[in-house]
Amino acid sequence: MNRCFFILLLLLAGFRAPAQSNPDGKLRIIAFGAHPDDCELKASGVAALWAAQGHKVKFVSLTNGDIGHFEEAGAPLALRRRAEVQSCAKALGIETEVLDIHDGELMPTLENRKTVARLIREWQADIVLFHRPYDYHADHRYTGVLVQDAAVIVAAAFFTPDTPPTKKNPVFLYYSDNFQKPYPFEPTIVVGIDAVADRKWACLNAIPSQFADKNSWQARTLPNVPQGDKERQEYILNVLKNRNSAVADKYRDRLIQLYGAEKGRSFKYAEAFELCQYGSQPTIEELKKMFPTF
Ligand SMILES: [Zn+2]
Repeated sequence: MNRCFFILLLLLAGFRAPAQSNPDGKLRIIAFGAHPDDCELKASGVAALWAAQGHKVKFVSLTNGDIGHFEEAGAPLALRRRAEVQSCAKALGIETEVLDIHDGELMPTLENRKTVARLIREWQADIVLFHRPYDYHADHRYTGVLVQDAAVIVAAAFFTPDTPPTKKNPVFLYYSDNFQKPYPFEPTIVVGIDAVADRKWACLNAIPSQFADKNSWQARTLPNVPQGDKERQEYILNVLKNRNSAVADKYRDRLIQLYGAEKGRSFKYAEAFELCQYGSQPTIEELKKMFPTF
């Protein structure tokens, strides 16, 4: 049999099998963001819940964030932002890594595809979280493309054989967003994060370059931001809290389907994820076993 055809058959067979937990019963989760605040915004609640249960979580920022400010830039900003997400990771009980690619310059190259595949393999991930490739920022879109492209080949033994392939195909899920074209986000799983909401807010407060500075992106782009340092930080954090409660409200019907009426109605804050069709395809019952709080 032609070797490529045989590998393709193996891949197709593997793609039908859902990821299973490791012998110690602990899952390994890797989340990709374009910038050193994206994973934190989209998934630090569920990460804190997983970590509290002893599962291993890693956040990866594909760029170093070195233009994400209105007053600072370059290496000093990149170093500052790396230290910020390290503080956040400490608060959540997870690991974090920031790649040294310039902010605003991420491209879906073969080299970057190999880097993403290696990161998933080195972590031996059961679950991979990432942006949809339909998003306002090119770095977010290309993060989506790069992770999707890696989804096809992380299990292929002869792709970048310097790292061993994943033992099984991970489950790939997108973060929620509000973009409508070419099609809107559809939540497969919505996780109530109220139990760890304070840890998420502590994580976001550890990232003042984005969510507190007078010349942070949020302070310069949100309307009616107060002048005082403390007031400004509280105001921006409140906007972020409202985004998490908007996710719970928008997908309330799904929360009720997943948790039952009483619990589903009770959550104030949530994070939502959509199953990507390119990885392992667990049933919703299998997914509920992989996510915390179900
Ligand atoms: Zn971003």
